[in-house]
Amino acid sequence: MVSRVIPVESFDLVIFGGTGDLARRKILPGLYRRYLAGQMTEDSRIIGAARADLTEEAFRAQVGAAIEQFVPKARQDTAVIAEFLARISYVSIDAKGTGGWEALRAKMRPDVVRAFYFSVAPSLFGELAERLHRHSIADARARIVVEKPFGRDLASAKALNAVLASHFSEGQIYRIDHYLGKETVQNLMAVRFANILFEPLWKSEYIDHVQITVAETVGVEGRGAYYDKSGAMRDMVQNHMMQLLCLIAMEPPYHFDPDAVRDEKLKVIRALQPIAPGDIVRGQYLAGGGEGGYLEHCEDPGSRTESYIAMKVAIANWRWQGTPFYLRTGKKLRARTSEIAITFKQPPHSIFDDAEGWKENVLVIRLQPNEGMELMMMIKEPGPGGMRLMQVPLDMAFADALGVEADDVPDAYERLIMDVIRGNQTLFMRGDEVEAAWAWTDPIIQGWEGRGERPQGYDAGSTGPDDALMLMHRDGRRWREIKG
Ligand code: NAD
Repeated sequence: MVSRVIPVESFDLVIFGGTGDLARRKILPGLYRRYLAGQMTEDSRIIGAARADLTEEAFRAQVGAAIEQFVPKARQDTAVIAEFLARISYVSIDAKGTGGWEALRAKMRPDVVRAFYFSVAPSLFGELAERLHRHSIADARARIVVEKPFGRDLASAKALNAVLASHFSEGQIYRIDHYLGKETVQNLMAVRFANILFEPLWKSEYIDHVQITVAETVGVEGRGAYYDKSGAMRDMVQNHMMQLLCLIAMEPPYHFDPDAVRDEKLKVIRALQPIAPGDIVRGQYLAGGGEGGYLEHCEDPGSRTESYIAMKVAIANWRWQGTPFYLRTGKKLRARTSEIAITFKQPPHSIFDDAEGWKENVLVIRLQPNEGMELMMMIKEPGPGGMRLMQVPLDMAFADALGVEADDVPDAYERLIMDVIRGNQTLFMRGDEVEAAWAWTDPIIQGWEGRGERPQGYDAGSTGPDDALMLMHRDGRRWREIKG
């Protein structure tokens, strides 16, 4: 299938932190792929900016190596890579210092979109915003892209919003949540709002419950000191899982337009109920299989930070009254998988005798691996054995539908960076959304901190702490299997 590629306006994109991990793994390979697809105009330019004292040749060599490592071989075209690298330059700059800013200004061209990707530690966001103005590098059309984490609580998120707002208008600030750039996540909106099939059923009358799972097999190795300050609630729930929940739960926006969509998401966040202590399970993975546990990888041997969290969330509005959303995420689990599963209720009356064969309809949206969707349906078991029922999946693997290899589905960052250039903020978080999410999260974290609760230990390679199973069992439900 050939996708329609519409070139974006010409741009100068500055990547602060251009030598960092995120730039190497995602941003620069993603830009190459957009160039290869013909979406970047010939005269667009990418400028790496970081503290390292590098020549332009040395930076280009780094970008070339990143493409070789992170772009599928079938997409590596030597001639196109050379053309792409010719559009890349570099300035050595210290976000906190004075050197390099004039050199950067000299590189910026008038009459093209100016975008500045802050792929550096959040403590530098304010300094960068201020210096871009002080050195007259950001014009009125300029955009800034800010990475996660956006604050660690409501107070810090407000402070960050305020500092950015003193230099840029809300329409210029692109707070990235790469989950929103995933094809499947956008497909969730297409499925809901471009089909008549689901929307009439999309409410507590027909939906029994929703499960959102983000399971990782990796631990915190190497990032232990950083992760220990955040934990699963801050690192995954407050941002990524909250965004997924919003897209499932929101009312239809009047148009697929940035503020229309974000207004609806905000209403969902505001309708989230406080969570009772008994509706949360926190875990920390234990040593096992010859590898150290969580505590061995963080600097604090008595750390109470969770590497796993499961919770039951209620949304207090007409549509969702009585339909719980169960969220769980963790590290060192059995398999790497992210999915949303929407479980429908039983038909009001069964005309078949095979009560045991009956299972619920489930719509599963798989974010990884193998992005796609699956709708579990009941059919008649084939053969003459009477009217027996069986459940079968209607399965749409995204890669199959697009005719591409599974590891070649466009990456979230590709889509999001092009949206920045297009000036489309629909898939970026607005300042009030982020603050509302923290306003809901803060009391939950303060609650367990105040109670001095320790997370429960769970075995590496398991599905999480036992109490997480109970969270569902006591409601007569069960988690879906975690399988890769
Ligand atoms: P990194 O440590 O690998 O890279 C940091 C970059 O910032 C380097 O290029 C470094 O030269 C530059 N830098 C540091 N101090 C500087 C200064 N004073 N002035 C100018 N440049 C400076 O970090 P990363 O993993 O690439 O993460 C960058 C940002 O992206 C962080 O906010 C992080 O939270 C976020 N993020 C990263 C990932 C990831 O997978 N790496 C995922 C999501 C979000």
